Parts: sequence; structure tokens; C-alpha cells
Amino acid sequence: MTEETVAAAEAGRDFIRDIVQADLDQRKYREIVTRFPPEPNGYLHIGHAKSIALNFGIAQEFGGRCHLRFDDTNPAKEEQEYIDSIQADVHWLGYDWGENLFYASDYFDRLYGWAEELIRKGLAYVDDQSQAEIRANRGTLTEPGKNSRYRDRSVEENLDLFRRMKAGEFRNGTRVLRAKIDMASGNINLRDPVLYRILHAHHPRTGDKWSIYPSYDYAHGQSDAIEGITHSICTLEFEDHRPLYDWLLEKLPVPSTPHQYEFARLNMTYTLLSKRVLTQLVRDGHVASWDDPRMPTIAGLKRRGVPPAAIRSFIKRVGVAKANSVVDVGMLEFCIREELNRTALRRMAVLRPLKVVIENYPEGQIEELEAVNHPDDPSAGTRKIAFGRELYIEQDDFMENPPKKFFRLSPGTEVRLRYAYFIKCTDVVKNAAGEVVELRCTYDPATKGGNAPDGRKVKATMHWLSAAQSQPAEIRIYSQLFANPSPDASNFAADLNPQSLEILADARVEPAIAEVSPGEVMQFERQGYFVRDRDSASGRPVFNRTIGLRDTFAKEVGKG
Ligand code: ATP
Ligand code: MG
Repeated sequence: MTEETVAAAEAGRDFIRDIVQADLDQRKYREIVTRFPPEPNGYLHIGHAKSIALNFGIAQEFGGRCHLRFDDTNPAKEEQEYIDSIQADVHWLGYDWGENLFYASDYFDRLYGWAEELIRKGLAYVDDQSQAEIRANRGTLTEPGKNSRYRDRSVEENLDLFRRMKAGEFRNGTRVLRAKIDMASGNINLRDPVLYRILHAHHPRTGDKWSIYPSYDYAHGQSDAIEGITHSICTLEFEDHRPLYDWLLEKLPVPSTPHQYEFARLNMTYTLLSKRVLTQLVRDGHVASWDDPRMPTIAGLKRRGVPPAAIRSFIKRVGVAKANSVVDVGMLEFCIREELNRTALRRMAVLRPLKVVIENYPEGQIEELEAVNHPDDPSAGTRKIAFGRELYIEQDDFMENPPKKFFRLSPGTEVRLRYAYFIKCTDVVKNAAGEVVELRCTYDPATKGGNAPDGRKVKATMHWLSAAQSQPAEIRIYSQLFANPSPDASNFAADLNPQSLEILADARVEPAIAEVSPGEVMQFERQGYFVRDRDSASGRPVFNRTIGLRDTFAKEVGKG
């Protein structure tokens, strides 16, 4: 199966799919047409993945089509880099728009013509009030707004001014075109909303042709109608815009009548999903880039090693609801572990190495031991790992003066080295500062493969690597970007987690790890899941920890 058919098979049921099914049952449409309409002013985040999965998912399941439409109506903030990354991310998630790639800017001429039509019908006017005046006169939730003193201009004057706005005669912000609806409406969106603003800016697609650009509210519904969208699905904050969406469709000679439906946006603990915040995180250097593995962007998740199937399974588990809520980030982590536990090959890496010398093992001797690639999948096979006199173990697998419940290595105790032998610590070597820098140990040759012929037991099995046959690596350990479970979007810098990135510069990995292909996630035994990063240099690979092995979320869910 392709990613796409897998994605379709994975989807569930929800109130929007029920509406679509009912519309099909009543033969309201010949074909279901949805769209995903990103503004190319940043990279996509996991919240967008919810919208993508919903819109593309519905099109696949009901045999329709889903358009990718760039809402490129604000050239001051939009860039080609974002257009490219958005396309790459949608594909990576497993969805495809086929031929149906569109831009709101494709419709600028038609949208302009319809705006003149509104003016001719007496339904739009040019307002010379300043932005501050417009805001002040809009009223509040409890107070009606005030009519602009320019509201009753003649059609001729409005047409003349609007054409001169288009011709570039006026400075930014000096005039707008507004719909003439009702300044006393209980719905603020109907208090003469702005349809066009003056903006002298170079547009990535239309160049310098336009000096005025349509507002989201004006461009969006009309673009939907031009494309024959049947179900225009957006997030709840647009619910109050729906009367305006419908008003414009009713007043204009549009070729079709789409309907808008709203669902709850994705919110997640320890995470901010706002492009404004994400842009600032990058611009202010709180993260290295849009695809920094701590970012909730699709590019960041990908670079971190999160498989697209885990994101789809998370989105499915979250579901589509009509009420806002906050999802525990642990649910995403659960989905990532669930997927990777199944697919990732097991390897050994030592993150913080401590040298071990096996005193009774012959100098210069190397033996190859057999290690299993996946415990639940025999077809994944086995590989050889080298054992020798000098090894590395994990620093925190040793304690010189262990508390009662510490079962790993300490002076006098015996432990198992996975796939190898039992070893016992006989002596501890320290540096001038009194830190343990090396352990002297003995091994029992009779325990090869990990079992004692006399039946004696050990309480710990540890991972390890041969000092000579392992390779150096840098390992990057990530934790939540924010320390606060509900970070404050208006002052997010104060909520950043100062420990969100730990770099382990002296890690060791087995040779099979250094050869891994990009994007392939491995389980480093007892440590978690890791993926090779693009910062890798030859002889010095870099790995990102996708996620640790601990599974606290599953335990909590189990309790509930
Ligand atoms: P932001 O608020 O982060 O700037 P946006 O809504 O302005 O996002 P758009 O590019 O306009 O960004 O979003 C494209 C589509 O993705 C819209 O239909 C929007 O409703 C949807 N979307 C954005 N954020 C989320 C979210 N957190 N959950 C679900 N859908 C979302
Ligand atoms: Mg938006």
C-alpha cells in the first residue's frame, strides 16, 4: 500500500464526515471537494496536520478531491520558502493534491471585478478613516459601531477612488474598501468588514501588479466558490465569520455555493501552535531553525525522527470535535513510541561512556557475538557485535556506593552484558579530582551468550560497546521546548525550558548505526529512539533522540 492508501484506511468517523455522508445520501453534490488553505507565512505545524488529515482524508474516503490552495493575500509576510516547505510537508504526511494546486492570487482579477460589482450595487464603499478610527468606531460586543462619515459616498466616487487605490495612487493605510452591511450588527464581523487594503508590496506570484490586496474574509469564500469547493472546513474561530462568508456568496455572481463548517483546532500541552510565536522562536534564535527538532512544525517532527504514520495515528486518536480542548502531549509521544516500537531496529549505543577493562580477557583478542535486530520480528535478522578487553558501559550503570535498590554494576556485584558475558567489578580507577574514570572487571568465560551453566542469576542486563570497534558520535537529547504545560503565547520567552537541548559530544555507537540511512529511526537499547541528523559529518555522525522509552502516558491512560 502507498502512504496515501494507508492514510485513507486509518481514518475514523466524526461529525463532519457524517455531514458529508448525509449530503451524498441526499445527492446534494456529484463530487465532494475540500481544500487545505495555508497562508504561506511560515512552516506547517502539527495543528495544520489535523486540518490536512481531515480535508484530504475526507476527499479520499468519499472519492472526491482536495485542493491545496495557498492563501497568498498578504505579500508583506509571505515567502517562496514557505510555499515550498508546505508542499513538501503535505506530501510527507501522506497526502496528495494531484493537479489541484491553486493560489488565491490566481483569482485577484476576478475578486477585483466582484468588488467593483459590490460598489455598483451600493454594497461597498471606500473609507478614508484611519485604521485607529475604524477600530474605535467598530464598537464592542455590547455597544453598536458608528457609521463612517464616508459611508454614503456615491457609486461614482467609490468606483473612482477604488480604481485609484488599485492604480497605486495612495499610500499604505490611507483608505480601505469596506462592505456596507450593518454597523449595529450583533456580529462584529458584519460591521462593514474590510474587503481591500492598500499595500505597496512585491508579491511572489503577481509581482508589482497590485497595490491593493483582498482581506482573508473577502478572498476566502470567493476562492472556495471559484474552485467548486463543497465543504469549506475551518477552525472554530471562524464560526462568527460564517454570516459574512454567506453574505458575500449571496451578493456576488459566484459559480457555486460552498458551505463552511467549523471544528476545534488542535491545542497541545507544553506546545504553542501559532505561526506568530513559531516565527518569533526562529527569528529570536530560541531555536536553530524552523526544522529544529524541538519545534512542533512538521519539518521539526520529521527531523526529530517522528514517522508520518505516528502523526496520522495521533490525529485520528484526537478526533474531530466541535468544542475546543487541550490534548496531552503525552498522547503524541505514545503514538510515536507505538509506531517506532514496531518498526525500529535495535542497536547499541553508549551515551555517556565509562571505560571498562576486562582484566582476564586476552589482550588483542576480539570475538563476534550475535545480536538480535528486532525482538518481535525474526525476519529482521541478527548482526555481529565485537567484544574485547576494553569496553564502554553507561556511566550511570555504575555506582561506587550504591543504595539498596541499585542492581547494576558496583564493586563486587555481577551483571550481564547483553549478548555477551557476566562481568564483576574488581577495582575502580579515579582521576585527580576523585572521579571514576575506569573500571577494572573480570568476566566469566562460561557465561558466553548471557547465561551461567551453574544457574546463578544476575539482577541487571546492561548495554555496552567494544572500545576499539565502536565509533564516536554526537547525540542530541531533546525535551519539551516549554517548561510550562500551558505556555503563555503573549510572553512565551519566560516559559521556555532552558534544558530543552542536551548535547552529548562523546557518545559511542556500534558500526551498524553509523551506516544507517537518513530518516531511519533506530532504538538504542535501554535509551530510546534515535535518528541520524543532517548535521552529521563523515566520521562523526550526529543523532537526534526522537523520544525516550519511558511510557508514562500509557500508564495514566491505563489507570483511567
Ligand atoms: P496560526 O494561527 O498558527 O497562524 P493559521 O490558522 O493562521 O495558523 P493558516 O495557514 O491560515 O494558519 O492555516 C491553514 C489551515 O489550517 C486553516 O484552515 C486553519 O484553520 C488550519 N489550522 C491552523 N491551525 C490549526 C490547529 N491548531 N488545529 C487545526 N487546524 C488548524
Ligand atoms: Mg489563517
